[in-house]
Amino acid sequence: MVKRALSILGSTGSIGTTTLALVDRFRDRFDVVSIAGGRNIDLLAEQVRSFEPAVVAAGDEAGAEKLRALVPDFGGEIVCGVEGLDRVATADGADLLISALVGALGLRPTLCAIDAGKDVALANKEVLVVAGELVRKSAQKAGVNVFPLDSEHNAIFQAMHGQNRSEVKRIILTASGGPFLHTPRAELETVTLAQALKHPTWKMGDKITIDSSTLMNKGLEVIEAFWFFDMPTDRIDVVVHPQSIVHSMVEYIDGSVIAQLGIPDMSVPISYILGYPERLPLSHLPSLDLVAAGTLEFHAPDTDRFPCLRLAYEALGVCGTAPAVLNGANEVVVASFLDGEIAYLDIPRILEDVLADHPRVDAPDLAQLIEADRWSRERARSGVAARV
Ligand code: MG
Repeated sequence: MVKRALSILGSTGSIGTTTLALVDRFRDRFDVVSIAGGRNIDLLAEQVRSFEPAVVAAGDEAGAEKLRALVPDFGGEIVCGVEGLDRVATADGADLLISALVGALGLRPTLCAIDAGKDVALANKEVLVVAGELVRKSAQKAGVNVFPLDSEHNAIFQAMHGQNRSEVKRIILTASGGPFLHTPRAELETVTLAQALKHPTWKMGDKITIDSSTLMNKGLEVIEAFWFFDMPTDRIDVVVHPQSIVHSMVEYIDGSVIAQLGIPDMSVPISYILGYPERLPLSHLPSLDLVAAGTLEFHAPDTDRFPCLRLAYEALGVCGTAPAVLNGANEVVVASFLDGEIAYLDIPRILEDVLADHPRVDAPDLAQLIEADRWSRERARSGVAARV
């Protein structure tokens, strides 16, 4: 068996730690060549001791200093900052990059890895949202694969395995609906941060948990699906499924619908890509008990109460720099909500204004995307300031 050699961007986050737990379970199948963590230097030091990568990146110089002190016997390279991320993404000997940073920060190192001929397993959906066309062209040019780690896209990827892609009629993304699925619009005005952070089924980082509650996460996933599966917008549907057991579905031209089901545990989609095209035996996980799960519900998403989903479809319809603008502005407003600066419903209000103001550029190159991202953040910050 040939060992797969991994690089991990975001090793201390939710996807990164789940990936490393799988590596630990299958040490004979995987090597860890390079890892990048953020601010949790204690955990990063633990990972260095356990997996002995050749290159490790901390978020900044202070973090790198602290890491050096924590692992004095480490013989590899300790780097930091955005250059550090590029070093980790392109490390010699690695063949698969786990791209699991949060937000647009992951774009540059992910493109570097593709250009360096690495396959990419993408959890960082903002990379495709901001620069889907560029990522697709770069991957084609380099002859590498970009695999989906996001549970919905991973489910679709599984449901398309061995099928003829030209026979796909539509894809159906499922959404948990988040903690406010049944909350009336008037009450959404006053929901608190603690309420928004209580995701009913999945354990994730703060940013994506807020995005799940506004349905922006699903909106970004619609854009992600557009690029992953080359599917026109009107053939990507969203259905709310609070139990998070059906992870997504593909309908074929004969009316057959193939779904992927499972317990909500990110180990499953991650292991599918790590082992691909083989499946890894995850015998430590419980079987899906459909009888215990009881009724599986499906509802149409309510875009009046959750306008972020509509905004994402609109941005995708306009395309060009619009999805990058939506994403950049969303990162700013979600951070402001997490800091307690704005109310919950200010999130879609500010985003709506930013999108309406945005001077669109068609078929943007990387420099234009970076400029659109910068513009959107600045514009969103003034939207926040106007409400503080
Ligand atoms: Mg998802």
